[in-house]
Amino acid sequence: MRALTWHGTRDVRVETVDDPEIINPRDAIVKITSTAICGSDLHLYDGVIPGVKPGDVLGHEFMGEVVDTGRDSTLKKGQRVVVPFTIACGGCFHCKSQQYSACDNSNPVEKQDMSATLYGQPMSGLFGYSHLTGGYSGGQAEYVRVPFSDVGPIVVPDHLEDEKVLFLSDILPTGWMAAENADIQPDDTVAVWGCGPVGLFAIQSAIVMGAARVIGIDHYPHRLELARKLGADIVNFRETDVREALLEMSGGIGVDAVIDAVGMESHGFAIDNMLDVAKQKVGIGADRASALKQAILAVRFGGKVSIPGVYGGMTDKWPLGAMMEKGLQIRGGQTHVQKYTKDLLAKIEDGTLDTTFLISHRLPLEDAPRGYHCFKEEQDSWTKVVLKPGMETTA
Ligand SMILES: [Zn+2]
Ligand SMILES: [Zn+2]
Repeated sequence: MRALTWHGTRDVRVETVDDPEIINPRDAIVKITSTAICGSDLHLYDGVIPGVKPGDVLGHEFMGEVVDTGRDSTLKKGQRVVVPFTIACGGCFHCKSQQYSACDNSNPVEKQDMSATLYGQPMSGLFGYSHLTGGYSGGQAEYVRVPFSDVGPIVVPDHLEDEKVLFLSDILPTGWMAAENADIQPDDTVAVWGCGPVGLFAIQSAIVMGAARVIGIDHYPHRLELARKLGADIVNFRETDVREALLEMSGGIGVDAVIDAVGMESHGFAIDNMLDVAKQKVGIGADRASALKQAILAVRFGGKVSIPGVYGGMTDKWPLGAMMEKGLQIRGGQTHVQKYTKDLLAKIEDGTLDTTFLISHRLPLEDAPRGYHCFKEEQDSWTKVVLKPGMETTA
């Protein structure tokens, strides 16, 4: 089959690789109909995530048709499914408490050392996201093997086209959980750093959850415009002092909740961020956290901090004093996708949530390298790229 493979920093290629096969009784094989490039794929593309090997198939946002099932899969051939990017067994301590992204069984023992050393306990398995998270082949391909197919995939009705449901695989539940982690109350003013896909879905979710005011922060005009259309106020950090603007918008006390939808490759011009950029380049100090630091200073005393943005390693110059003295609640984590898919599918069906506004480009799988390049370099206009394995190449 054809698949998008990683070969090094800024080097991804579409190649012919072995077709996936059923390995375990609970597996299913899914023929991909739509798969997206995620902002967190750019961390792999930029070479800032450890444990990726040349030839690894990327992609963790995908859906398609079930074409083969193991003995214990509950799926049936021909069903259309969206597959969560988090791989979870459904039966361990964490899965039973709906903390699916902390599953104890989905990352094979021989892959656990690196994350266990970094985090104290090993990470669970994720599709297409380095050997740190199990080394599973991803879904930017014609076919994918789906482990624990009786737990993760959600069957979608035929009347909902791919583009309405594809983002149940990651970014819609991720934006929703980001808003949930901000513990939004009806009078709250919520500021969201980053109006990329997750930030936009966090904004939409915060509005649906009843936040009084939501503020989107970015520097890309088109992305800010999308936030404004969702109902957010917007702040362009290249034109406006964010801290002053947020103070003014919150009656001088700071906003009630902040969401960092930027993560480890934060832009910024402050001296500490420039140092972080330099250290990331030479391989020490993995995370540039300037957006998160700004967010912690901007939130009010007793406020809430939600971190959907991806961080992998360590950071320094951490505003520990602000965190403690202000009595902040801080919540983050990989998304427990399986916990949210059913409810969010219902919200898509009844029209409460729409995700199609985000898609800017649809490309054949063969054009995936161009998709990565442009999604990285032309972030203002390339808001979300959907790859279609069956689509005719036009270029
Ligand atoms: Zn993603
Ligand atoms: Zn589990």
